[in-house]
Amino acid sequence: MSDTIERIKCLIIGSGPAGYTAAIYAARANMAPVLYQGEQPGGQLTTTNDVENFPGYPDGITGPEMMIQLQKQAERFGTDIRHGWVTKVDFSSDLHKIWINEEKEIHADTIIISTGASAKYLGLPSEQKYLKLGGGVSACAVCDGFFYRNQETVIVGAGDSACEEAHYLSKLCKKVTMLVRRDEFRASKIMAQRVKNTENIEILYNTETDEVLGDGQVVTGVRVKNNISGDVHEIPATGFFVAIGHKPNTDIFKDYLNLDETGYIINEVPGTSKTNVEGVFVSGDAADHVYRQAITAAGTGCMAALDAERYLAAKDASFEVSTSTYN
Ligand code: NDP
Repeated sequence: MSDTIERIKCLIIGSGPAGYTAAIYAARANMAPVLYQGEQPGGQLTTTNDVENFPGYPDGITGPEMMIQLQKQAERFGTDIRHGWVTKVDFSSDLHKIWINEEKEIHADTIIISTGASAKYLGLPSEQKYLKLGGGVSACAVCDGFFYRNQETVIVGAGDSACEEAHYLSKLCKKVTMLVRRDEFRASKIMAQRVKNTENIEILYNTETDEVLGDGQVVTGVRVKNNISGDVHEIPATGFFVAIGHKPNTDIFKDYLNLDETGYIINEVPGTSKTNVEGVFVSGDAADHVYRQAITAAGTGCMAALDAERYLAAKDASFEVSTSTYN
C-alpha cells in the first residue's frame, strides 16, 4: 500500500463517451479532474467498427478513433488521464475514498462513475473470433444494423432487448432469424407479439447456436441446434447479433450505492445524475439499461459534471461555478 494519499476535487471512473464527456466539462469548470481509464480504455465503443449515428461525423468514424479524439479533447482542457483500475471504494464519509490497483489511495470530493456495462456474449470461440475481427458479430443492432441492409441476419435472445433489436433489424434486413432457447419469450407480451407479427422475422424456438460460420474473415452463416430434437442445420447470414443481456460494471459500488436487481445504479433524483450518496454521480450505461447509446452516454456525462460542479460550489464557498461550462 502506498502511504501517500492523493487529495483531489473530482475523480472520474471510466473512459467511454460518458467518462470523457464528464472530463471535458469538469476540466473546463476548473475541477482538475483525474480520470482512470479502467480495464478497457475507450470502453464498449472500442469493440465496434464504424459509428455512423453520433452527430458531427457525417462520414462516420471508427469507435476506437472516436475514443482517441474524445480523450484528446479531455486532455486539452487539463484532465489527468491515467491507466488504472479502481478496485475498492469507501463512500461512507463526505470525502470519498478510492483505491487504484489495490494500492494507491485517493480522496475525492466528487466521484463521477462512468464504468459502463458489458454486453453478454455466448462465449463460443467462433463468435469471439468474428467479434474481434469486426467480421459480422455484434451486440448492438442500433449501432451496426445499417451495415446489413438487405442482407440476412440472425439474432440470439428472447428478452425485450432481443425483440427490440430484431424489430429494428427487420426494417433494414431482408430476413431476420431469431433464436429462442426455450419454447417461449422472456420479453413482455407486447414486444414479443410485435416480433411475431413481423413478416420477415422467423422465430426458431428451442434453438441454440452451435457455431458461427465464416470464411475466416467474415460471417457467412450460423449452425444451430434444436435442443429438443437434436436436429442441426445451417442458416445463411452475414450478421450475427447477440442480445442476451448486459452486465453493468458496478460490483465495487454495491455496498454503498442503490442498484436495481440487475446491478444498474439507480438515479436517486430522476432527471439528474445523483446517486444516493452525496457527491457521487453516475453517467452512461452504468445507470442506463434502456438507451445505451454513445450519444446518450455523452449527454449524461455532461450532466454528471454539471451536477458535480454545483455540488462542489455548494460545499466549498471558495469554489466558484465557472461560466465556461455552459459555453
Ligand atoms: P433479459 O435478461 O431480460 O433477457 C435475456 C434473454 O437472453 C433471455 O430471453 C434469455 O433466455 C436469453 N439468453 C441468456 N443467455 C442466453 C444464452 N446463452 N443463449 C441463448 N439465449 C440466452 O435481458 P434484456 O437485455 O432483454 O433486458 C434487460 C432489462 O431491460 C429487462 O428488464 C427488460 O425488460 C429491459 N428492457 C426494456 C426495454 C423496453 O421497455 N423498451 C428494451 C430493452 C430492455 P431465457 O429467457 O431462456 O432465460
